[in-house]
Amino acid sequence: MTSAHHILQHVFGYDAFRGQQQQIIDTLVAGGDALVIMPTGGGKSLCYQIPALVRQGCGVVISPLIALMQDQVDALKAAGVKAGFLNSSLSMDQANEVERQLLSGELELLYVAPERLIQPRCLGLLQRAEVSLFAIDEAHCVSQWGHDFRADYLQLSLLHEQFPHVPRVALTATADERTRVEIAQRLNLQQAAHFLGGFDRPNIQYRIQLKDKPRQQLLQFLRDEQAGQAGVIYCLSRNKVEKTAEWLCSEGFNALPYHAGLPAELRQHHQQRFLREDGIIMVATIAFGMGIDKPDVRFVAHLDLPKSVEAYYQETGRAGRDGEPATALLLYGLEDVVKLGQMAASSEGNEQFKRLERQRLDAMLGLCEITSCRRQTLLRYFGETLEQPCGNCDCCLQPPVTWDGSEAARKLLSCVYRTGQRFGANHVVDVLRGSTNEKVMQFKHDQLSTYGIGRDLSVNEWRAVVRQLVARAYLQVDPDAYGALRLTDRCRPILRGEESIQLRKVIPKAGSLTPRSRSVEIDEQDVPLWNALRACRKRLAEEFGVPPYVVFHDATLREMVQQRPLSEGTLLKISGVGDSKLERFGDAFLEVIRNHEYPA
Ligand code: ADP
Ligand code: ZN
Repeated sequence: MTSAHHILQHVFGYDAFRGQQQQIIDTLVAGGDALVIMPTGGGKSLCYQIPALVRQGCGVVISPLIALMQDQVDALKAAGVKAGFLNSSLSMDQANEVERQLLSGELELLYVAPERLIQPRCLGLLQRAEVSLFAIDEAHCVSQWGHDFRADYLQLSLLHEQFPHVPRVALTATADERTRVEIAQRLNLQQAAHFLGGFDRPNIQYRIQLKDKPRQQLLQFLRDEQAGQAGVIYCLSRNKVEKTAEWLCSEGFNALPYHAGLPAELRQHHQQRFLREDGIIMVATIAFGMGIDKPDVRFVAHLDLPKSVEAYYQETGRAGRDGEPATALLLYGLEDVVKLGQMAASSEGNEQFKRLERQRLDAMLGLCEITSCRRQTLLRYFGETLEQPCGNCDCCLQPPVTWDGSEAARKLLSCVYRTGQRFGANHVVDVLRGSTNEKVMQFKHDQLSTYGIGRDLSVNEWRAVVRQLVARAYLQVDPDAYGALRLTDRCRPILRGEESIQLRKVIPKAGSLTPRSRSVEIDEQDVPLWNALRACRKRLAEEFGVPPYVVFHDATLREMVQQRPLSEGTLLKISGVGDSKLERFGDAFLEVIRNHEYPA
């Protein structure tokens, strides 16, 4: 039996296990079950791939992501692993061939779609084969509360009944407690060892900005910081996805749209291009991203507010899986809160479900409006403590300026009260600023004692006050009443002058924050070698018909630039270079480096 560590080094080319990988692998190798919660990019794949290689027989990976199986299998093959997949994209002949390999014991890893697995024919096949373990990837798909629910996943409990001696591991990046409990229960994993990974993603820089001129803000971010980099831009609606992608193209970017309303082939095509070409920007709804394990996504930008902190964390987690610096940029405004509130209110769930949705949205808004370290708040949300401010979020890098907003808050809250708690932010601010517009006149709000008492602040400043009071639950936005503002019980001490409140000052922010966000930065004199290595990778990727990162990750190329290995022995020491890749790609890269060091 080859040891797990040997496989880590020789097959995958890595020196050491990360986080809890070793314990998880040991558990499975010893025949135990496991439930693994690890953030995106934490390294879940190795947790089942290595035990599958250590144990006798073939590891069966259940994944809902049919479109990605080919790439996952290609990546394993490049590392010298005998892998295959079974899903509806295969012809009868191809499927037969995979089945033959499975039965003859040639396969080490087999990826199967859940709907395929639960067919009696497939189960029968597995009964006749030797199965080393079952890995249930994206295990949160069993949760009926989540948005990724798949009915087929519910039936996976039969694995335990039909294969009682085969170890099972369920993996997900979804962190909340209720989903975890649901997974354990539905998949019969209560007795399994539970591994809750550390949730921090230190290489991701979190930045949350107010929408001022969102397109301008985005453009500046892309031009100044992310030129030529791959990234994902999330929008709430399909329409906005298409408009944004079109506009980015007209600005000279390589942007592609992705949402559930596009024909399946087109979606697939865009996904392929995103994976295979350098520097593509994917503009997408949340339909895009689950299981996309492209390691070199350098940024994730949100042009609309995500509906929960979990969603935000999962979506931003798709940046920087390779551990290199990456940026998560979120632009938000008050109208997002109203829109999402309306969506939650009109959704199909019962009252309890709607209340939960609202609470989630409030937590998200709270994250946007805090003035202290974002990462500390994020991690606290997932039950973890970060002792010191992180130094790599916008609040840490450019501490927000605060001001005593008690007086302004009192004015606003009174005005909401005087206007009958029936109007949205725009109208309330108009009254405060003494506007003479038709609506103000129509409701005779110029007669109110709060009319015109807020001329000292601009419309934008007032909107910021509203947002912050909503975020801190002094005010509620009523989604059933077109975003009408309502007072909550928490207001009283403020109105009575017993409590003061510090608010964040609105400073239209511009430009990048720090060189740390300028990811993959290569020293000036190294750029020619870096480009030559990337060109070599591209050529090999095309030759083998795989995405460039399947050949080597950016991090591996960067280490080559630093170490300049000239022999196979020193090349093998570089992280990400295993035996099979050395054999396949080693000469080509060594030649590039030699030519650079000793030009003819
Ligand atoms: P997840 O599925 O948890 O999102 P992956 O399994 O895709 O994460 O791993 C994320 C990245 O980290 C991959 O590029 C992988 O090759 C790399 N990785 C995983 N484990 C290690 C390790 N022990 N050392 C170095 N890199 C690792
Ligand atoms: Zn911070």
